[in-house]
Formats: sequence, structure tokens, C-alpha cells
Amino acid sequence: MADALFEKVALIGLGLIGSSLGHAMKRANIARHITGHARSKQTRQTALEIGFVDAVFENMTDAVSDADLVILCVPVGICGSICEQISPHLKQGAIVTDVGSVKVAVVAACARHIPSGVHFVPGHPMAGTEFSGPTSGFAELFDNRWCLLTPLLDGDPQATKKMTEYWQACGANVETMTAQHHDVVAAITSHLPHLIAFNIVGTADDLEDVAEREIIKYAAGGFRDFTRIAASDPTMWRDVFIHNKEAVLEVLGRFNEDLASLAKAIKEEDGYKLYEQFERTRHIRQNILDDERKK
Ligand code: NAP
Repeated sequence: MADALFEKVALIGLGLIGSSLGHAMKRANIARHITGHARSKQTRQTALEIGFVDAVFENMTDAVSDADLVILCVPVGICGSICEQISPHLKQGAIVTDVGSVKVAVVAACARHIPSGVHFVPGHPMAGTEFSGPTSGFAELFDNRWCLLTPLLDGDPQATKKMTEYWQACGANVETMTAQHHDVVAAITSHLPHLIAFNIVGTADDLEDVAEREIIKYAAGGFRDFTRIAASDPTMWRDVFIHNKEAVLEVLGRFNEDLASLAKAIKEEDGYKLYEQFERTRHIRQNILDDERKK
């Protein structure tokens, strides 16, 4: 394994993203040695049995000791406290990154705990499923998906370059942007769609004249897709909404205005407006498919 990108990589958090990274690193020989830490003994044991890590530690400071790369794969709300705990144990020259779905809040919580001589390169792979835990990961999760890096203004360009190589070796395409811009992009492409799914499934469940068994029985097409998204991990998504509050509320405001305008069109039987809107959105779907075909 002479060409491993990193000698030792530590995964803090061994759920969907942590385990997928472990598998992807094994697939491409990215690290000579992968250590892991998770809160529960059960998760640590499962990770070791599956084999996407080489060693697990009950104490996260032991997992990061001597690591060249430390990846935080935990809910965004605890990234700051984890950085604080591991900070004195980080090796000089090491890179610390995260995979959190929110960037401004994670940078604010983590950057101040990163010691000088250690490089912090925040990141977010735009890839996931509704499953969680160490058995849910797979090596192909990041293939052809985007990973967005949000380097700090005074960050080391070499560390960003190395993280770009890392994500490319995991199968992803990489782009860099500011943390602020990332949070708006993620709010409209990922956070709002999840909020809508959580809401629509809840609304259906609350409808008094439609029994739950009817929802299950007749759930087809669109609604079925919403239930899949609405099955996503509650802890992760609670943290995402609380920590990306401003950007989510901003796009939610726009969404509510547009929804009110569609409701008005329905009320007024404005077929032209409805048709025009549906044709526009159908065109966007076509563009996405065309873009995918080019990859
Ligand atoms: P997950 O499957 O629920 O895994 C979370 C992991 O974090 C588990 O191993 C859990 O350990 C560990 N953990 C939780 N609290 C901890 C603590 N206090 N100390 C140490 N370990 C702790 O979550 P995930 O889907 O991989 O998400 C992880 C991160 O990736 C989140 O920040 C999320 O925003 C981001 N992300 C998720 C997706 C997605 O679609 N899921 C996509 C892109 C980015 P136990 O198992 O022992 O509880």
C-alpha cells in the first residue's frame, strides 16, 4: 500500500457516513490504518466486525492519537464539543475535517478549538440515505456525488488540496465555496425538501378522515417517496434545522410565498398559471437528468 494518501485516519462517529467512508477508504487503499470511535460499545463492535475500521477505541482521544486525518462523522450539534475534547491530542500537521450538513455553525463551534499547526478543512458530502448506523454504509455512497469543501479564509491551501484528493479517491466530485453560501445551497436542495417530507407525512397522519391503514395501503408514487425521506434520522435532522436556522427560514419564507401563489391559482382555477409552473419544473428535472447522463 505504498500509495496510501494518509498513514492513519480516525473516524469519530461510525454511522451511515462514517461507515461509508471506511468502506470507500478500504476500496481505494486511501489509508494504511483506520481507527474509529463511536459513543456505544455496540456500534464500535459492529464496526470492527464488519471491518471498515482496523481498530476501535472507547476513548476518542485514543482514536485520534497520531492520526494524520481526523473526520468528524457525528451530528452537527456535538462537533464543537468533540473538537474541544480531541484538541490536545491532535498531531502537528494533522488535518481535521467534518461531514456535517451545516457549515457556518460547525465552523463557529470547531475552529476555535483547532490548535495551531493543525489544519481544519470543513466539508459536506452531498450524499446520503434515510438509513443510519454502522450497518447502513457502503463504499459507493459518494461515487459521482458532490462533496462541498468550505475552507477557512486563512486555511492552508495544501490541506484543502489534500482533502480534494481524498474525496476524489472516495469517488466524489469536489467543489469549494464559502460556508455561508454552502448553507443556503444546502437549505434549498436538502434541508427544505426534508422539512416538507417531515411535514406532509405528519399532516397525512393527522388527517382524521383518512385512516393510517389507508395511508399505508394507498401510499404510491409521490407520497411513498416522501415517507422514505421522512424516515431519516431524527437526531441528525433536529441538529440540522437548529444549526441552519437562518438559511432554512429564509428559503422557507420564499417557499411559503410561492405555495400561497399556487393555492391562489387553484382557487381561481387559473389553469394557465398552474400549467406554466408545472412545465417549468418539468424542464428542471430534464436538465438534472441530462447533467447526470453527461457524467
Ligand atoms: P448516524 O448514522 O446516526 O451516525 C452517527 C454516529 O455518531 C454514530 O456512530 C453515533 O454513535 C455517533 N455519535 C453520536 N453522538 C456521539 C457522541 N456524543 N460521541 C461520539 N459519537 C457519537 O449519522 P450519519 O447519517 O452518519 O450522520 C453523521 C453526520 O453526517 C451528520 O453531521 C450529518 O449532518 C452528516 N451527513 C449526513 C447525511 C445523511 O444523509 N445521513 C448526508 C451528508 C452528511 P452510536 O452509534 O454509538 O450512537
